[in-house]
Amino acid sequence: MASINIERAHRLKRLPPYLFAEIDRMKAEVADSGMDIISLGIGDPDLPTPGHIIEELDVASRKLTNHQYPSYEGMPSYRKAVADWYGSRFGVALDPASEVISLIGSKEGIAHIPLAFVDPGDHVLVPDPAYPVYEIGTYFADGQVHFMPLTAENDFLPDLGAIPTDVAKNTKLMFINYPNNPTAACAEVGFYNELVEFARAYDIIVCSDNAYSEMAFDGYEPISFLNAEGAKDVGVEFHSCSKTYNMTGWRIASAVGNAEVLAGLGAIKTNVDSGVFGAVQEAGIKAMSADQTCVAEMRKMYQGRRDVVMEGLAKLGLQANTPKATFYVWVRCPEGFTSSEFTAHVLRNCGVVTTPGNGFGPSGEGYIRFALTVPEARLKEALERIEKAGF
Ligand SMILES: *Cc1c(COP(=O)(O)O)cnc(C)c1O
Repeated sequence: MASINIERAHRLKRLPPYLFAEIDRMKAEVADSGMDIISLGIGDPDLPTPGHIIEELDVASRKLTNHQYPSYEGMPSYRKAVADWYGSRFGVALDPASEVISLIGSKEGIAHIPLAFVDPGDHVLVPDPAYPVYEIGTYFADGQVHFMPLTAENDFLPDLGAIPTDVAKNTKLMFINYPNNPTAACAEVGFYNELVEFARAYDIIVCSDNAYSEMAFDGYEPISFLNAEGAKDVGVEFHSCSKTYNMTGWRIASAVGNAEVLAGLGAIKTNVDSGVFGAVQEAGIKAMSADQTCVAEMRKMYQGRRDVVMEGLAKLGLQANTPKATFYVWVRCPEGFTSSEFTAHVLRNCGVVTTPGNGFGPSGEGYIRFALTVPEARLKEALERIEKAGF
């Protein structure tokens, strides 16, 4: 018998077109042709989780208490470890009981937070280009996305003065992300102070995504949004073990900051999930509280890769700012190429997978993103192939 008529809900039909479909198809085609593929497409660390964290999981996974439902908001020891880490890393004081909750990866918290605060028609300010979850989480809550373009002229920071007053008045929530994916831009306290004032003026909840705070180079130390005066009055910050400790597969993160905002997010979460596996929380505690040598090594490794890519790009005459943080390089397309065209060119002719900038939002047009997720030798090879193919 034929199946029933299965129609997707409005919220799924509203999703923006998947701009990577054409690239995915082309990648399969190039792979089928037998060409060796170098993938600089996905922002996922290529090295394993440090051994001491895995060992902690091994021990913690055998404890009976961890076989039962975990506490929804995170076990007290996990929340305390996050608060202690914020204290020592950023000098930000947090009450573990009310100002920290656990998340099943920061993506989960980012996707859910609009459900707690956004009513149909409310505006959400979303950077453009950006990590796609800010926009999609807004759609799932039936909110209206207002893009804040990030341009080279403004150092890839949103121009708060350019947000129309009537939009700001109808805005419930805004997302920001520094160090930034995909542009690798960083923000300093002056910008965050301005942001707090703006949020106060219009009662906007600021959601800062700080996933890349530890992936920084040349001694640079990214700050937290919560370093701004009064930040805790207006918002929260998402942080994650994913990028810092090569733990993208583990799904452990946190949201910290304004207690009322976290309580709202928690009210959604207690009805959707039942928290993070206790053993994974214990591994997260270990990651944050143990000696941080593995993080220093991670920085050194990505800095070496970054230098290889920057040198290669300079030789090719391609323009990109030298990233102070993140494992992305945001490369301007050469004359005569759109983002899609240049991505297709390096894929077809060089077997190098990159991400077209317009896939992160309309203002990403004219750029492609390289992820530094393969060893130096492969990065060199990728750039040599691009040089040989020309453009
Ligand atoms: C990788 C990444 C994250 C981390 O996501 P998790 O769900 O914690 O793994 C968050 N935000 C941005 C912008 C990212 O690129």
